[in-house]
Amino acid sequence: MLKHVIISLLILLSGLAGVNALQPAELQRYVFTEPHMGTTFRIVLYAKDEATAKKAAKAAFARIAELNAIMSDYQPTSELMRLCDKAGGTPVEVSVDLFAVLQKSDEFAKLTDGAFDVSISPVVRLWRKARRSRELPKAEEIKKALALVDYRKIKLDAKGRTVQLLLMGMLLDLGGIAKGYAADAALAVLRQHGISRALVAAGGDIATGDPPPDGPGWKVGIAPLKNPGAEPELYLSLKNAGVSTAGDAEQFVEINGKRYSHIIDPKTGYGLVGRRSVTVIAPNAMTSDGIDTSICVMGIERGVKLIENREDLAALLVFETDKRIETVQSKRFAKFLWKETN
Ligand code: ADP
Ligand code: MG
Repeated sequence: MLKHVIISLLILLSGLAGVNALQPAELQRYVFTEPHMGTTFRIVLYAKDEATAKKAAKAAFARIAELNAIMSDYQPTSELMRLCDKAGGTPVEVSVDLFAVLQKSDEFAKLTDGAFDVSISPVVRLWRKARRSRELPKAEEIKKALALVDYRKIKLDAKGRTVQLLLMGMLLDLGGIAKGYAADAALAVLRQHGISRALVAAGGDIATGDPPPDGPGWKVGIAPLKNPGAEPELYLSLKNAGVSTAGDAEQFVEINGKRYSHIIDPKTGYGLVGRRSVTVIAPNAMTSDGIDTSICVMGIERGVKLIENREDLAALLVFETDKRIETVQSKRFAKFLWKETN
């Protein structure tokens, strides 16, 4: 049976009840939501008045819309799709934003030994079709699509800010990183408007700025693996950091009793099988977004190793193996747990 459940927030933001009584009188809490990039973007900010808050939020949402027009792989007119039209040809000059995301994607691909690979699009498209038809992609279709998947064939030249896709037919998909980048960019716009105490959530990818006036950090809940709609069992306290949760809780297809995630293992061309949820804390949301998708592919052992090797990362991994749920916290994760004495 095909199941396609979209729940906008895998990471739930706590209600922060009673916050108004505690905050300094000159700052008020404002919340804004808008749909972008196939999810709901939520901005929580503290400002001195409504006019300032609204103006800043409007500019932040406009920036997100601008980034969607650059990075969408659903809009044939996006800058990304126009770049893909030139695959197999000469280098193409691209915008600062597209270059920045492709440069980071390349860094993540190398860091994860190809578990993260934005050239995965031809395979992702087969699995999107599978979700509609409820039929597994054919082995030869996967093989053909995989022949176009290789991040090493994306040539970046920082000097001329150009990108060359070396294989004819190559297609890129920034679904594993663009929302985090957009959340960071929206936070930067709020800062330009003088608002530093803010949080931007792009579905399960969250960028946090300075903390709310009444506490040491933003209280962010992590949804349970099996029941993402339920009360979070864990809360984090975050400031000036990114946090993302990836997994198969929201998007998957079930065929012949097997559940395939929308996250693909580039080594096999198959959607990941086996329930998992990975939460990554990083200096920004672009990094937490890219790395959480990668860790889902890499699994517990390789994933934890990657995280522990980097001082700027922390993670919580929840994997279901043989009907048993294995939970691993990286060494630095506990530091971010919300304490009621906060
Ligand atoms: P979401 O928050 O939408 O679940 P994720 O950050 O978990 O997003 O990334 C999943 C998306 O990343 C997929 O929908 C697809 O567009 C893309 N993707 C899938 N597999 C990979 C991969 N191995 N490397 C890079 N991107 C991927
Ligand atoms: Mg991600």
